[in-house]
Amino acid sequence: MYLKRLELIGFKSFADRTELEFVPGVTAVVGPNGSGKSNVSDAIRWVLGEQSAKSLRGAKMEDIIFAGSDTRKPVNFAEVSLTLDNSDGSLDLEYSEVTVTRRVYRSGESEYSINKRPCRLKDIMELFMDTGVGKEAYSIIGQGRIEEILSTKAEDRRGIFEEAAGIVKYKNRKREAEKRLEETEQNLVRIHDIVSEIDEQAGPLAEQAETAKTYQALHQQLVEHEVSLYVQQIEATHEKWQRSSEQVAGLQNELIQLSATSSTREAELEQAKLKVHEIDQSIEELQQVLLSVSEETEKVEGQREVLRERKRNLAANRQQTMEQLHRLTEKQRSLEEELAEQNKLKQEAELRLAEAEAALQKAQENYSEMLQALTDDVDALKSDYFEKLNQTANLRNDMRHQQQILQTHQARVDRLTQEKARLDQEEAQRQEKLALCQQELAEVEQAINETLAAY
Ligand code: ATP
Repeated sequence: MYLKRLELIGFKSFADRTELEFVPGVTAVVGPNGSGKSNVSDAIRWVLGEQSAKSLRGAKMEDIIFAGSDTRKPVNFAEVSLTLDNSDGSLDLEYSEVTVTRRVYRSGESEYSINKRPCRLKDIMELFMDTGVGKEAYSIIGQGRIEEILSTKAEDRRGIFEEAAGIVKYKNRKREAEKRLEETEQNLVRIHDIVSEIDEQAGPLAEQAETAKTYQALHQQLVEHEVSLYVQQIEATHEKWQRSSEQVAGLQNELIQLSATSSTREAELEQAKLKVHEIDQSIEELQQVLLSVSEETEKVEGQREVLRERKRNLAANRQQTMEQLHRLTEKQRSLEEELAEQNKLKQEAELRLAEAEAALQKAQENYSEMLQALTDDVDALKSDYFEKLNQTANLRNDMRHQQQILQTHQARVDRLTQEKARLDQEEAQRQEKLALCQQELAEVEQAINETLAAY
């Protein structure tokens, strides 16, 4: 067996993945102070199961994870894999090469594996036991350790020689066997204690046993008495049962007779039920007839109600029509009065027109006369002439105005005449409608009378 390879990731100063190959022979690691040579042997001890952070030159286990530098950020875990050549079978595994791996996270969580298979720390310890390889074994001797070994007592050196001799495993087993023996001895002492305690209780237990025996004898007597009591009770009950059976037989005979009577009564009852059924059917038929008669009556009642309603509506319509007729007659009367008024106005206007025309006539006559009389003295009478001309113009204007009023009155008279004609026409239509309503009313009344007569 020899060390073949060591692989470090994030362990102390080895931030990047670093692989160290060891060939058979002697390998020396050379470097200046603080360059990380001891970190290599720390890695080997750590992967073999070292638990003390102090012996790995740190304060706590987290210190073995690369803590970062000026140019690199810290990493989250450290991992070391140690590969050993096992072609000579020194390790108790059927592999020619054995790789032991350990990984630790900043959270403190640890993982172990042998040939990439997860395992416990104990499995790694047992694998290397008595092989000279191990965290405390002689195959790893750190700085100043040789001097320490040689100078310490022979007893302290013994561990190293025992490991080399391969008896550590047996010593461990012996230690475990001695521990178990000691436990067994302690158990024996406890058993002795219990036995002596039971011996002390033996006296009172004997008394209790005597009491138990007396109890058993008394219990036996009680059982015998109870049995004879039960036998007596059973015999009495049996006699009672026999008497009851006889009574039951008598009652059964009575029951048979009663059943026969009951059958006859049931037959009679059946016949009576049949008759009742027939009567029920006739009643039902009669009820059906009564129902249809009631329905018919209800229908006629409904029709009568409808006809009454129609009569009421027609009466209301008639009332409305009469009222409308009355209103129209009133309106016609007022229009006629208005027309008379207008005619009066027209006559007055005509009168005034005639007066105006007469005045004009007179003025013209005066003018003619004056014109005739004043022909010679035109200049003198010129003013009079103009005055008269003005009067004439005014009178003409007045006359034109009166004519316009007359025209307006005439147009209004025409409109009122037309309105009267239209109202006359409407009146005629209403009269027709009234006649129709009266005719319909007469028909409805006749129908009501007929229906009432039929009902
Ligand atoms: P010497 O010859 O003085 O014993 P050495 O070559 O053995 O020195 P080591 O003691 O192995 O060197 O290495 C120490 C170096 O490892 C230091 O430079 C230290 O900064 C670095 N180191 C230790 N732990 C860590 C860590 N967790 N993260 C980063 N660097 C670390």
